[in-house]
Amino acid sequence: DASGAAAGGVLTIDLSALRANYRLLRQRVGGAAVAGVVKANAYGLGAERVAPALWDEGCRTFFVAHLGEALALRPVLPADAEIFVLNGLAPGDERLCADARVRPVLNALDQVRAWGAEGRRRGGRLPAAIQVDSGMSRLGLAADEVESLVRDPSRLAGVETVLVMSHLACADDPDHPANAAQLAAFRAMEAKLPAARRSLANSAGLFLGPDFRFDLARPGVALYGGAPTGGAANPMRPVVRLDGRVIQTREVPAGAGIGYGFTRVADGPMRLATLGLGYADGWPRALSNRLAGFVAGRRLPVVGRVSMDSLILDASALPAGALKGGDLIELIGPSQSLDAVAEAAGTISYEILTSLGHRYERRYL
Ligand code: PLP
Repeated sequence: DASGAAAGGVLTIDLSALRANYRLLRQRVGGAAVAGVVKANAYGLGAERVAPALWDEGCRTFFVAHLGEALALRPVLPADAEIFVLNGLAPGDERLCADARVRPVLNALDQVRAWGAEGRRRGGRLPAAIQVDSGMSRLGLAADEVESLVRDPSRLAGVETVLVMSHLACADDPDHPANAAQLAAFRAMEAKLPAARRSLANSAGLFLGPDFRFDLARPGVALYGGAPTGGAANPMRPVVRLDGRVIQTREVPAGAGIGYGFTRVADGPMRLATLGLGYADGWPRALSNRLAGFVAGRRLPVVGRVSMDSLILDASALPAGALKGGDLIELIGPSQSLDAVAEAAGTISYEILTSLGHRYERRYL
């Protein structure tokens, strides 16, 4: 990570808000356990800080996407932390995965076979999750593949199925008929597989009602403050704040072209402030001439195109000399939410969070 005054901005991650969000979700699901989805470096916020904070709140199960992420997470968590790899077991990874006591999510019959073979080679059974495809058509066993395991249980030899799971495609749209259809399909499949625990809900799924909760919920984005439900007010506490650093200020006369392509031309004398972050830092180019930075209660609109490493604000509302190099300007925070930034950019909070990159000074609260 970049540090100190050299960085183009400061990314502040409020771990106490993260912990409050974890508690809120746990309340929401009553008796079910709540895992932490910390793939993609905890949605860009730093898995090595986020996962232990969740552990301190009682979280014992973690999901990442890749084995490499699981191996990186293992040393920052107590030995009995349960770590699952959502993207499955890649051929040849069996030994590494088992040695690290990482639990693969088995997404296909050949993965079940390979994991079972590794378990038998070690003289026993190795724990894993089995994912079933309840309708998203992305990962997991199809209904006839589940049947084949039921018909021939020896296919599960060497595998200890500790979790049966599936994933919802349309949970962020509570009225979508796919939710009930996936629930029914999941019920039919999980009933056939012997497993201690079952898991279906992501952040949005956990707001669909008690039927969707099962034994273990798997929220990601809601932990990080993103809205778990489409449309409705966001009940989660903001976790992320982004401040851009002023690297230069200038006065320009009427008629001055501003930024690449002169998509904005000064219609009168203007005072501009250039911040040292751009699309390479996850501030989307789609936000050219859109949204604003905020300082001391003033809204400073973004003018011109967002560049790779900089963007320009209209600081005309501030008196001369009010801003200087090094000053911090809020881009995500109380005045402009993560969800508002995502919506203006035509994307989702997940994409903004995971694009924030490595060039900011990071501060953990
Ligand atoms: N479960 C699975 C299988 C996922 O792929 C994801 C993330 O996309 C999650 C849970 C967490 O989802 P969300 O961030 O919407 O809570």
